[in-house]
This record gives sequence, C-alpha cells and structure tokens, in this order.
Amino acid sequence: PGAPAPAGGSAEPPKKIPRGVVLGPDGKPCRSCTSFASWAAQTKGTIKGDTARAKAVTQSPQNECPPDVEVLGRSTWTLLHSIAATYPEMPSQGQKSDLLSFVGLFSKLYPCWVCAEDFQGYLRRDAPKVGSRDEFGKWLCGAHNDVNRKLGKPEFDCSKWEERWRTGWKD
Ligand code: FAD
Repeated sequence: PGAPAPAGGSAEPPKKIPRGVVLGPDGKPCRSCTSFASWAAQTKGTIKGDTARAKAVTQSPQNECPPDVEVLGRSTWTLLHSIAATYPEMPSQGQKSDLLSFVGLFSKLYPCWVCAEDFQGYLRRDAPKVGSRDEFGKWLCGAHNDVNRKLGKPEFDCSKWEERWRTGWKD
C-alpha cells in the first residue's frame, strides 16, 4: 500500500525497477511518486531496508528529507481541506473563479505525476463544486475518497468533513 496505482496506461511497464518505485516521464525514478520504503530499497545501502527506521527518518524534523508520496499526500490533503474549511459560505464570483483556477492548476502541477493524472481524470468525471464552503468541502471529500478507494484505504464519512477540518470533533 502507498505506492501509486498505475496511471491510465500512459507509462511503459518498468523493467528491473524495485517493486513500488514509480518512474517519472523522464524515465528516472520519481521520488514524489514513491513511498520512502521503496525508495530506500532502490538506493540500498543508504538506508538498509528497515521500513520502520526509514519511516522514522522521513518523519523526523532533524532529517528534513524530500517528501515521499505519503508525506507529500498527507500535507497536501491538509492544505486542500484547510482551504475548504476557510472558503466562504457565500463566495463571490471572483472567489469561485479563483478556486476553480486553483484546483485546475493544482491538478497539473502536483509533483507526483501519476497522482496528478488520476486526479485530472477525477476532475473530468466530477467537476469541482465551488458554490459554497459545504459544497466544496463535500466535493473535496469525495475526491479524497476516490484516492482512498484506489489505495485500499477506508472511506471517510463526508458528513463529518467539517468536524475533521474546521470545527473539531463533537464530544
Ligand atoms: P491521507 O489520505 O493523507 O489523509 C490525511 C487525513 O485526512 C486522514 O488522516 C483523515 O483524517 C483525513 N481524511 C481521509 N480521507 C478523507 C476524506 N475523504 N475527506 C476528508 N478527510 C479525509 N498516493 C498514492 O500512493 N497513489 C496515488 O495515486 C495518490 N494520489 C493522490 C492524489 C492527490 C490529489 C493527493 C493530494 C494525494 C495522493 N496520494 C496518492 C497520497 C495519498 O492520498 C495519501 O495522502 C497518502 O497515502 C498518506 O495517507 P494517510 O493514510 O496518511 O492519510
């Protein structure tokens, strides 16, 4: 789990690449598309295959390493859901237009290219809903659940998105 699912058939199947390592469009291993454990396996000797230690290293503030696919994803979801949480209940036309532009550009610039391609596919199937905070929060929750399903993670109850990301949990 954690390794990106292959994107819509656009990449050649990698040869002699350790399991879980995803190649970038340039044919080189894509760090932000790959979990730290898989990355460590392909650079064996740097970190000797100990997943627990690898995770500790990647999460430790003293070792500020470039993010793997999971650290990048977790941080990005935090940003996206926080944008939803602070989006107005009644946005102006300008705010709606800004949010639509942001989501479209984000989907092109996201550093994990396989993730980005799949996210662009999601946008084509289910266009962002930006009419209000709750509308966007629920749409984003659905988009996040689409990735959760792909990765075999549990789905989040979208009726609770605001408790998770804005108000805090009810007692
Ligand atoms: P995350 O999925 O990062 O979630 C963080 C927190 O958000 C959770 O702890 C939970 O409290 C909350 N949460 C969970 N689901 C929801 C929801 N539906 N709505 C609201 N809150 C929720 N990784 C890959 O390996 N392959 C991919 O193709 C891939 N695509 C991605 C596409 C995008 C646009 C993004 C932003 C990330 C993608 N990721 C992908 C990363 C992946 O989604 C996770 O971020 C990563 O696996 C770490 O997962 P996590 O279990 O820490 O929780």
